[in-house]
Amino acid sequence: MRALDWTKAACTTASADLFFPESKTPKASDAARATCLGCSQLVACREWALGFPEMPGVYGAMSMHERRMERRRRRKAAAAAAVGEQTTRDEAA
Ligand code: SF4
Repeated sequence: MRALDWTKAACTTASADLFFPESKTPKASDAARATCLGCSQLVACREWALGFPEMPGVYGAMSMHERRMERRRRRKAAAAAAVGEQTTRDEAA
């Protein structure tokens, strides 16, 4: 994955208000999300933002709540993979 390059971010020319909507409804993030979906930095930005659980706002086309859900999904997937690996090792022993 390429490193995040803020100088190429589509949001540098957009209003910051779009990325920090007062309303927490998914619709409130639509304008920011649309900007992100056209941004060359989306993947790197999303991965970067996932590393900051308390950071508000839209990054990588995901709201704070969506990033929280994504972290949870990844933790569960990692735990399931670890259990699967352990089971495979136990069966091989
Ligand atoms: S993905 Fe969105 S928040 Fe991230 S750099 Fe691009 S426009 Fe900005």
